[in-house]
Formats: sequence, structure tokens, C-alpha cells
Amino acid sequence: MSKFDYQDLVCDIPDYPEPGVIFKDITPLIADPQGFSAVIDELAEHFLGRGITKVVGAEARGFLVGAPVAYRLGAGFVPARKPGKLPREVISQCYALEYGTDEIQIHADALTPDDKVIVIDDLVATGGTAVACAQLVEQAGASVEGFGFALELAYLNPRDVIAETFGQEVFSLI
Ligand code: 5GP
Repeated sequence: MSKFDYQDLVCDIPDYPEPGVIFKDITPLIADPQGFSAVIDELAEHFLGRGITKVVGAEARGFLVGAPVAYRLGAGFVPARKPGKLPREVISQCYALEYGTDEIQIHADALTPDDKVIVIDDLVATGGTAVACAQLVEQAGASVEGFGFALELAYLNPRDVIAETFGQEVFSLI
């Protein structure tokens, strides 16, 4: 349970980006000085003292939350990006969407087997993006230590999806 009341700073946007979807808009939360620092501080505090060396965050909103959490942990940040965005050799992971598949990549030398990594994103829905990020960490030979999210859409059971592949804990603020 979070110390900060985030609810008023997250907007429900009906029928975005397509009819029938209710999009959770976190831009008011990260625009709010207290809200933004509370999100970053609470996520970082949770993983502090565990020797985390790298944070992986998925394009694009995962950068907004993942990079400052990495900074607070004294860890490095590794961006996971859509194909064609990273300039050097990459490793790739495909994952299922509701319709079709998508692919996410990190630089092949971004992680080493010594790295202890957490996956951070603004929101977890089905868990597909987070699992794909964790699979990239494993492809690189590094270890996945946990998952942190500002928001979790619990009714979609992302915890079960993540637990199927990765036993590590999932920590969400909202
Ligand atoms: P998943 O792969 O868990 O189904 O979707 C999570 C990914 O999609 C995250 O990278 C997240 O940024 C984005 N996403 C999906 N739905 C929403 C939403 O309603 N609001 C926001 N802010 N991001 C979403």
C-alpha cells in the first residue's frame, strides 16, 4: 500500500487508443512534483539494498519511470526499444499482443552475466512487455531480480503471467 494518494493524478481516458479501451494517462502524475518524486522514491526504496546494478525500461513510458529509479538506486539504465531504434548490435525478443506480435530490443553489450536487473515500467497490463524485457535480460545472461510498476491492471492478472516464467516478485504502487 502506497504512502501517497496517486489516484487523482491518473486519468482514465475512455476509447483510447481504440474503442473499448480505457487508457490510464499517467502524464498528470509525472507532471506533479510531489507525485513524481513519490513514485520514483517508493519504487527505488523497495529495491534499495539488493545490489541492483541495472534497470531495464521499455519504450517509451518505461524510460520516464525506469531512468530516475536507476539513478536513485545508483544503477545503470538500459532502454528496451522497438526494432530499428538502437544503433549497434542488438538482441531481440518477440512477444504476443492482443492481435499479432511485437518485438523489443536492447544493445547486445548492455548487460553482463554479473548484472542484477529489475524491470521497471509505468504500467503493467497483460504482462507481455515486462516478460519480454525479462527474457532479454536472461538472453544477455544477467539475472532478473524483480519487477516494479507505478500502476498494475490487476484484473488482467499480469502477476500470474510474470510468475509463470519468472518467480520474482512484482511490486506495484497503484
Ligand atoms: P502489457 O505488455 O503489460 O500488456 O502493456 C504494458 C505496456 O503498454 C507498458 O509499456 C505501458 O507503458 C503500455 N500501456 C498499456 N496500456 C497502458 C495504459 O492504459 N496506460 C499507460 N500509461 N500505458 C499503457
